[in-house]
Order: sequence, then C-alpha cells, then structure tokens
Amino acid sequence: MMRGLLALTALFVAVLGKDTFEGHQVLRIAAKDEAQLALIKDLEEMIEFNLDMWRGVTDVASPVDIRVPFESLQSVKVYLESQEIDYSVMIKDLQAMLDEEKEEMESAARVAQPKNTDSFDYSRYHTIDEIYSFQDMLVAENPNFVSKIVIGQSYQGRPLNVLKFSTGGSNRPAIWMDTGIHSREWVTQASGTWFAKKIVTAYGTDPTLTAILDKMDIFLEIVTNPDGFYYSHNSNRMWRKTRKPNPGSNCVGVDPNRNWDAAFGGPGASGNPCSETYHGPSAHSESEVRSIVDFVKAHGNIKAFVSIHAYSQMLLYPYGYTRTPAKHQVELHNLAKKAITDLASLYGTRYRYGSIINTIYQASGSTVDWTYNQGIKYSYTFELRDTGRYGFILPANQIIPTATETWLALMAIMDHTYKNPY
Ligand SMILES: [Zn+2]
Repeated sequence: MMRGLLALTALFVAVLGKDTFEGHQVLRIAAKDEAQLALIKDLEEMIEFNLDMWRGVTDVASPVDIRVPFESLQSVKVYLESQEIDYSVMIKDLQAMLDEEKEEMESAARVAQPKNTDSFDYSRYHTIDEIYSFQDMLVAENPNFVSKIVIGQSYQGRPLNVLKFSTGGSNRPAIWMDTGIHSREWVTQASGTWFAKKIVTAYGTDPTLTAILDKMDIFLEIVTNPDGFYYSHNSNRMWRKTRKPNPGSNCVGVDPNRNWDAAFGGPGASGNPCSETYHGPSAHSESEVRSIVDFVKAHGNIKAFVSIHAYSQMLLYPYGYTRTPAKHQVELHNLAKKAITDLASLYGTRYRYGSIINTIYQASGSTVDWTYNQGIKYSYTFELRDTGRYGFILPANQIIPTATETWLALMAIMDHTYKNPY
C-alpha cells in the first residue's frame, strides 16, 4: 500500500511537476593527458550515472563540463579522485540557480505585456507565447519589410515560424540565421529576438546593413525547436532535444543537431535514444529539421547559413564529421577571425574559432555540414556566452551584451557574403 502510494506520488510529480535539479552539480574536469581524456570518455558511457554533458570531451586543452545528479555525485567524485583527475565544482547547486532564474522571470511577468516591440523587454527571458506575439507585433509594425513564413509544424503541432526581412525583389540571395535548435540554450532565442528588432531599426540608419538589405533577404528562425523550448520552460529546464517519442524506448527526443544528412549516424552522434546526442531513426526524421531542409532546397539561393548555439564562446565552420578541410577552409577561417575580432572589440569577449572537429569535437549529422555540402559556402555555427561559469543558465542581464557583441560578428559575415557574391 505504502509502495503503491509512493509510486502514485512519483507519477504525479512526473506528470504535473517540474523536474528538480536539487543537489545537482556541474563539474569542470581537466584532463592532464590522453589517458585521462579516455577515462573521462569512459565516464560518459556509464549510463547508470545519468550524466549530462554540458561540454563534451575534445582535447587535453579543453575542459569538460558535466552535470552530475545528486545520486551519482559521490561515485563520480570517487572515480575522478581515484584516477587522479583534476576537477572543480562549477555550479554547486543547480536548482538554486534555476530558482533564481525563475524568480526573475516571474517578477518580469508581473508587469503588463508589451503592446509593441519598443516596449518589449529584451533583457529578460521570455516564454514561447511571448516570443510568438513579439514576432506578430514586429510584422504588424513593419508590413512592407517583415513577414512571417510558417515553414512547417513541430512534432507537437506548433508552427515553425521564420521571419523574413526583405525590401523587395523575388528570390533574392539570402542569409539564414537560426537560434534555439537546442532548446535549453536560452540566450540564443533571446538574442534572436534582439537581432530581429535590430534588423528593423538598423535598416535605413546603418549604411552597411542597408546596402545588404537592398540586395539580399534575411531569414531568421528564433524558436527552432518549439516543443523543446516549451518543455524547457514548463517541465525540464535542461531539455536539449526534440520531443518526439522513440518507439521501443522510454526516452524521448532526437538531437536536432545530429539529425542532418551529412555523415548521418557517424562518429560524434549516438544511436541510443536516451543519449543527448541521439541522431534519430533516419536523417531528417525530425520535422523541425526537415522543414528547414525543404525550405533551403526550395529557396535555392541562400548564401550564408548561421546556426546559433550556446555555450563555449566559439565560432565554427565545417566540417564536424571529418578532418578533411572544407574546400573554402582558408576563406572561412579568415572570415571567422574577422568576425570574432569585431565581436571582441565591444567588451573584450574572447572566442575560439576553427572547424567544428578541430575546435569543439567530432560531430556527424550537424546542421552546417549539411548546408555547406548543399553549396552554402558561408556556413557557420556560433557557441555564445559564457565559458561555463553559468553555462546554460546565463543570467538575463547578459542577454543584451551577448546579443550586441554577437551582432558585430554577424555583420562581418553578412557583409562579406554581400561583397563576395558566388
Ligand atoms: Zn547547442
């Protein structure tokens, strides 16, 4: 009876409550050599620990960040100490940080909802409904410049909205940007919202952007994984994947940045539906991915594709699945350097840059490898702030600084694309 009651309580918590991260810690682990790196990789494979890789294994120079549930903390620390692997506690109590974030959001929500995009509070995190209503307001305020295209529906039936910024013409060469394909990377959707407003205000005042928009269109998908985003607000703040169930498994969702038809299913993606990097049953199985694929192919004239993630402060270009350099490696590298130099000019924020496989880790089936192989030369992935102090829980007071500095890098990429037609 007691056991039945407990099971029932657990069920209610699972259905009605939010997942809690009480006592979870984020450990930063530093390998001294290749042998220790391999031991950390082994740890990653120990599924009984339920670890969540915030920053995966790359090389000896790069730290690894892992969220460790309270239940596994003791064992993981014993494992690391017995192997003499150095680590520090980056986040001591994740739930305490989440509570703070939630409190901030709720106090912001108590003020009236904005009636226009001027009174929208860009310095706060917003729900999906608030972002969707922001998009509609921006379109209504700029009917001859901004339109909303619904490129498809998420698994749970939410619209996949793309903002189109266009001053005319038909099928002009275009720049694509997306934010939030990994739902828990909240600073990206928040930055995307800021970018949308920035494009509207800068057109006609900033000569560089004005020249670009007189010849090219910009497409911006802010909530690229809406089901995951909704879930990260309402059930599990740490949700990264889509929300499609996996037949035969209790684990839900696919990593939409491993689901693309570029070395699909290769190294750097997992075949286990419970993994955070699960590639899915087949390439483009996720409608959130498929809809972009269809859009890009139908458009046929996209010249730059920028997919925005967090965190780590990196600007990356193809490839992720192979060490063979991309055909335009030198140009992509030089442009990345220019972009991160511009970015740093504002607040001194330091970025690393390079190909995905050489800078972050091997990843197959990733977005920009696919777009690059489609012939979109200027394919880039950002990893925005920070380097791990807050990780995915970046305080809201860093949204505007993050978006503002990132905008400088985006301008460098857009301007280069405009000036180097192909
Ligand atoms: Zn990501």
